Amino acid sequence: MNILTKTKNILLDILFPPICLNCGFDLKEKEKRDKICEKCMDSIITYSSFFCPKCKSRIPGEEKTCHKDVKYLLAPVTNYKNDSVKNIVKFIKYNRWTSLLNTIEPILEKYLSLLKYNFENFIIIPIPLHKDRERERGFNQSELIAKIICKKTGASININALKRIRFTKTQAELKDPEERMKNVKDCFALIDPNEVKNKNIILVDDVFTTGSTINEAVKNLKQAGAKKIIAFVFAKA
Ligand SMILES: [Zn+2]
Ligand SMILES: [Zn+2]
Repeated sequence: MNILTKTKNILLDILFPPICLNCGFDLKEKEKRDKICEKCMDSIITYSSFFCPKCKSRIPGEEKTCHKDVKYLLAPVTNYKNDSVKNIVKFIKYNRWTSLLNTIEPILEKYLSLLKYNFENFIIIPIPLHKDRERERGFNQSELIAKIICKKTGASININALKRIRFTKTQAELKDPEERMKNVKDCFALIDPNEVKNKNIILVDDVFTTGSTINEAVKNLKQAGAKKIIAFVFAKA
C-alpha cells in the first residue's frame, strides 16, 4: 500500500469508522475484514445434523425424514432467527457485499465437519434466479454459496442444470405460505433431465423458510429420476 492510499484509509476510518453490520459498534482492526464484530460472530450457532423439511425436527444420522411424503433432507448450516445471520444474508443479497462470503465460509466449514457426511458422489445444483433478476442483482447468491460447498466437499457442481422459466415475485414479499407456493409453482425446468437421472443431488439456496422454492425444484428433480436429494441452505427460518 503506498503512502497516499494509507493516508486515505486512515482518513476514511476517522470520518466513517468501520462498524459491525449487526450491532453497529466500532470494529477492532482484526474484525474489519469480516465486517462483523467478534461478539456478533460468536452468537452464530452451527447445526450438526440434517432436519426434516416439513416439521423441522432434527434427524439423527442418515435416516429418512419423519414425514414420508417429503422426498429430501434439509441440511441447514445455521439459524435465520439469529440477527447476525439475517444481516449477513441481507447485506450479501441487497447491498452486494459479496466479500461477506469469506465470513460465512468458516461457519459452513464447521457445519460440514460436525455433520460428517460424505458428499463426494453428489452433484451440487444452485437454485437459479430468473435471468432478469440475476442481471439486476449482478450475481446469484445461491451459486456463490454452492461454489463454497463445492470447494469444501469435493462434490461436482452443475450451475446450469436447473433453469427458472417464469419470473416470480421474491418470496420475502409474500408472507402467506399458500401464496408462496402459488408464486413458485412450475417455475423451474431442467435443461437436460438425463444429467440428474439416478444421481445424488445437493440443492443449494441461501435461506429455507416455508420450503416452497426448494419443494418445486425437488419436484423437477424427482420427476427426472434423481436419487438422493439434500437441500443445503445457509440458514433455516
Ligand atoms: Zn457486532
Ligand atoms: Zn417431519
